[in-house]
Amino acid sequence: MAPQILIVEDELIAAENIARNLRKQGYEVVAIVDSGEAAILTAAKTNPDLVLMDIMLHGEIDGVVATEKIATHLQIPVIYMTAYADDATLERAKETNPYGYLTKPFKPQDLRTTIEIALQRHKTDKALEARYAARLCIAQEQLRELQSKEGETHGLSQLRSLDLSPDWELLATDLLSALERQEFQLHYQPQFNLKTGKVCGAESLLRWKHRERGFISPAIFIPLAEQTGSIQAIGEWVFQTAYQQIKSLYQMGYDRIPIAVNLSAYQFNQQDIYQQSIDCARRVGVPPQSIEIELTESKLVKDVEGAIWKLKSLKDLGIKIAIDDFGTGYSSLSYIQNLPFDILKIDQCFVRGIDRNIKNQAIVKATISMAHQLNLNVIAEGVETEAELDFLIQNNCNQCQGYLFSRPLTQVEFEKFLSDRMNDR
Ligand SMILES: [Mg+2]
Repeated sequence: MAPQILIVEDELIAAENIARNLRKQGYEVVAIVDSGEAAILTAAKTNPDLVLMDIMLHGEIDGVVATEKIATHLQIPVIYMTAYADDATLERAKETNPYGYLTKPFKPQDLRTTIEIALQRHKTDKALEARYAARLCIAQEQLRELQSKEGETHGLSQLRSLDLSPDWELLATDLLSALERQEFQLHYQPQFNLKTGKVCGAESLLRWKHRERGFISPAIFIPLAEQTGSIQAIGEWVFQTAYQQIKSLYQMGYDRIPIAVNLSAYQFNQQDIYQQSIDCARRVGVPPQSIEIELTESKLVKDVEGAIWKLKSLKDLGIKIAIDDFGTGYSSLSYIQNLPFDILKIDQCFVRGIDRNIKNQAIVKATISMAHQLNLNVIAEGVETEAELDFLIQNNCNQCQGYLFSRPLTQVEFEKFLSDRMNDR
């Protein structure tokens, strides 16, 4: 059967050219769509063998975001078609592990070669997964034996009762040993003060680099870690690593760069964050208040009273608390009024293209002025263009982070980034 291909391209003439070309070379074109949203829907419905994705789509979702969804949820290989993509977009694209790039305009021969390589690679990946699954069965058998001898271990017994698909089971097993194998990394995205233009902090982002599969999205492994119980140890590692990073910054001469740590709902509700911060900070030898904590609003709503108490105890330690992804959860004004936050982070979906989106302009303006009345600092996330930045500066946003300034950096890159700006201090 001819390989089925979905074309995502918002220039109709270009799209039809590509389709004609593909058919001539014996491929079947399942559909042509012109937006990221339509790409996700159509890919889910038609399950093609491959997607050709224009990287710079107009609309709310660009080609990179759509690819992220298609690659993670549907596991369909994607080839990017690029022309004028800027460096920031290409950096983001790289993180989605695409199966190839085609620079427009491309020759029919290049189209064919790139597609054939991608299809072949995908086939190999699938075969590898099947081998994984087989190996997992053996490993599980061994674990069961071990458990019957030594009694239950928390993570593994949880895992067995989850009834996951083979692929997930495999991932869950690997997750349990990822800490030991040192497969986790913290990346750091610098944050900038919009008045001074200087670096004023960084958000730490947890990355899992699986030894065979490469980077796996936190959207996948965090829920899995919560279900299998390994989140406790992972959370501890994140705290410890963030404090170590702060110590390293102290040694470089930076004493005012807090590192923000994202906490999952489970961690916030289940764990003694207060004690954990004190213990980790003491072990490393830095003050506990040198980190900040980011919480998503929807994670707290269930038990407001309990949340207030917990947040206050952290505040007593001097730890600043940010409400993350503001506007995407159950925002209610009384809610932020009652909870002791210090920082409000505006989600990137409101920031993207804000210079052209009147609705988002109104929302962001109102959010900033409300936050200031409540004495909260405002950080805008996902700033990618000068025009977005100008809007935020004009409307008194305090800080921002995003690809316009820097993508998330590895520890080495982050320290180099800071030392290159040593005079900025
Ligand atoms: Mg965050």
